[in-house]
Amino acid sequence: MPAVATDFETVIGLEVHCQLTTRSKMFCACSTDYAGAAPNTHVCPVCLGMPGVLPVINEQAIADIVMTGLALDCEITPFSKFDRKNYPYPDLMKGYQISQYDLPVCKGGSLEIQVEGHEPRRIGITRVHMEEDTARLLHRTDPVTGDGYSLVDVNRSGTPLMEIVSEPDMRTPAEAREYLVRLRQVLRYIGVSEANMEEGNFRCDANISLRPRGQAEFGTKVEIKNMNSFRAVHDALVFEEKRQAAALSAGEKLIQETRGWVDERNETVSQRSKEHANDYRYFPEPDLPPLRLSSAFVESVRARLPRLPAERKAELLDLGLSEHEAVTLSESRDRADYYDAVRAALTGGEPARAAKLAANWVLGEVLRWVNTTGRDIQDLPVTPDRLAELITMVGQGTVTAQAAKSVFETMAESGKTAADVVAEQGLAQISGSDELRDMVRAVIAANEKAVADYRAGKDSAIKFLIGQVMRETKGRANPALLQDLFTEELTEK
Ligand SMILES: [Zn+2]
Repeated sequence: MPAVATDFETVIGLEVHCQLTTRSKMFCACSTDYAGAAPNTHVCPVCLGMPGVLPVINEQAIADIVMTGLALDCEITPFSKFDRKNYPYPDLMKGYQISQYDLPVCKGGSLEIQVEGHEPRRIGITRVHMEEDTARLLHRTDPVTGDGYSLVDVNRSGTPLMEIVSEPDMRTPAEAREYLVRLRQVLRYIGVSEANMEEGNFRCDANISLRPRGQAEFGTKVEIKNMNSFRAVHDALVFEEKRQAAALSAGEKLIQETRGWVDERNETVSQRSKEHANDYRYFPEPDLPPLRLSSAFVESVRARLPRLPAERKAELLDLGLSEHEAVTLSESRDRADYYDAVRAALTGGEPARAAKLAANWVLGEVLRWVNTTGRDIQDLPVTPDRLAELITMVGQGTVTAQAAKSVFETMAESGKTAADVVAEQGLAQISGSDELRDMVRAVIAANEKAVADYRAGKDSAIKFLIGQVMRETKGRANPALLQDLFTEELTEK
């Protein structure tokens, strides 16, 4: 009897379906803005699958998939075609789905990922193809008979759907989650999808198999479905990794099957044996001509491709920011744009100093506002120019760093400029030594212990004394001047 392996390597590939943000559907003029609309109100003979109607390709959807392909370093194929994927299910109005089988729009790309504490890795993208979404089924129970039944809402039917298939390049559930995070980030940067898994416009199926470490040949793969969050994808893969390892270690044979993730029970359950491509009886869609993409079209899309997260992050690192700062500031395109605008508006100083000052403010007060209000950064009343003005006022000593935080808060609430808030609230920094000297003397008189500590050589006692004046002036006193005044008052007698 051959020895049973106990040390396995995990092999994971992901298939992501993501809805595009086009205004109309993939093959008809129906609006895709059906969220909250009454069922079956965003429909027409085409997306209802009536006989005799003809689909028309949505050009914007093709531009979006080309942009996705470019962002993922794919080859954009000049000739692709649509195919019918046949299967009977009540959510499929025509009895087939228009998809792409052997000639997708994009193929052969990659995406770099980096799990914290590990080296970056490049995950291959096999293909990106175009298809149409299905109708939505709503499962109900009859209150009288207790029988189950389903309702069909066709509003979603025909919404452009892009499928992004990875190579089986991931080796851990953590890598799979990181791949999804980075893929979502790219899709949002280029603005082709909201890519929100909880809302169902970004869906993921996973393929996972195990093989004895060192073996080149893949093991039997299992497809997992029904995962509705990044956490669910991670947990389902962890569960499946353990289940398969236990079975293989016990000398059992795995079967190729589809399993569903049951969130409440934290486990996968067998759904059906895996279907094969030939079960779908794919054939070329006779109602659509092949898709020929001119290089002029591809170049026009490339010209609109924004700078991607990896590039933005690298730029921030070049400015001297830390890895953490660069990752956080380049998290979303809006955030990176806001930061860059603040930095650009801080003229006159050292570029590295401006980069650091802007980073401190955006990572501090600005993100605090975003997190507490739950609003988008572009809704912040403190525009990049206004924030830069406030930062400049701190640099010039018009307002102290401490008071500037409360100025920022007022600016965010009122939409006023820093200069107006400082003037209205009397927050201008106190830099007059006569005005401060009286306060310094009063504080010295009232704090004998700290004064004695200071004279006994405890230098830190002066910080306590400065703090007293700061409290009295609500943070408006010039700290450097206070330091001088205290040193002067305490040493000369
Ligand atoms: Zn329609």
